Amino acid sequence: MKNLLLSKKLRITDFRLAILDIFNRYENSISTEQIENELGKFDRITLYRTLKIFKENGIIHEITMPGNIKKLALCASQCSEHHHEHKHIHFHCNTCEEVYCVEVPAFPEIGLTGFKVENLEIQANGICQNCG
Ligand SMILES: [Zn+2]
Ligand SMILES: [Zn+2]
Ligand SMILES: [Zn+2]
Repeated sequence: MKNLLLSKKLRITDFRLAILDIFNRYENSISTEQIENELGKFDRITLYRTLKIFKENGIIHEITMPGNIKKLALCASQCSEHHHEHKHIHFHCNTCEEVYCVEVPAFPEIGLTGFKVENLEIQANGICQNCG
């Protein structure tokens, strides 16, 4: 985890490492509330600043799903400063309410003739493997 901060040229702090550790412990995306619960005692401003820095540096990304669901998840290695590159689908399980980042080999060809697609977000919902 230290290497991740180093590779992004970010200062290593105990707090940043603690946040990364929380992301690592969860298999799926997590909410800010979950992070707050895990931390117990923390400074809210430091937390929000840290999450903002992580987002800007391609360490985590924000997921917004219908129903006002907001989650955060670790990025794949190809994300960099101010450039997120995701080839995955966000899947919301209607049973356990978890949101998964599901890697796909390629996005389906879409007929946006004349438009240059730089970001494509696909949202899906249904029943996850744990619930199915
Ligand atoms: Zn990303
Ligand atoms: Zn589920
Ligand atoms: Zn994702």
